[in-house]
Amino acid sequence: MRSLNMKEDCIFCKILNKQLSSYQIFENQEIMAFLDNRPLFPGHTLVIPKVHIETIFELEDHLAQKLFQASKHIAIAVKKAMGAEGIFIGNNNVIGQTVPHFHLHVVPRNKGDGLKGFFWPRNPYSTEQEISETQLKIQNVLKGLNI
Ligand code: 5GP
Ligand code: ZN
Repeated sequence: MRSLNMKEDCIFCKILNKQLSSYQIFENQEIMAFLDNRPLFPGHTLVIPKVHIETIFELEDHLAQKLFQASKHIAIAVKKAMGAEGIFIGNNNVIGQTVPHFHLHVVPRNKGDGLKGFFWPRNPYSTEQEISETQLKIQNVLKGLNI
C-alpha cells in the first residue's frame, strides 16, 4: 500500500512498501529495521522511520526518541545474536549519506575487526579562546531553539 508520506524514487520507501525486498528484522507502527545489503559485518542493520524524512534536521523529537530506543533494543539483539563484543551506532546526514531517507546504522564490532573508516582525522583547536568561542556559538544557537 502506498502512503502519502512516501517518496516515489526512494529506495527505502520502496523497501517499506515492499516494492523492493529486504531481510526485515523489526517493525512497529512507526519504525522498520532490516539488514543492510552491503554490510560492514554480518548483522549490520538499518533502522528507519516509516515516513520519508531525509535527515536528522527534519526529524521530530518524538520520532527521534523512538528510533533511538528501537536501535538500542536492536543493538542488544544484534550483539547477542552475532556474538559481537560491541556495537557501533551511526547516522550520516547529507555528507556521507548515500540514501536520503533517515537511517541509523547498527553495526556489530569486535576487537581488531579492521574497521578503519572510523579512525577519523582529528582537527584540534588552536587556542583555548577558540574552544570558548565555539562553546558560546553553539550554546547561543541552542538557546534560540526552545528545547
Ligand atoms: P549511508 O551511506 O546513507 O549512511 O547508508 C546507506 C546504507 O544503505 C548503506 O550501508 C547501503 O549498503 C545500504 N543500502 C543501499 N541500498 C540498499 C538496498 O536496496 N537494500 C538494503 N538492504 N540496503 C541498502
Ligand atoms: Zn524514503
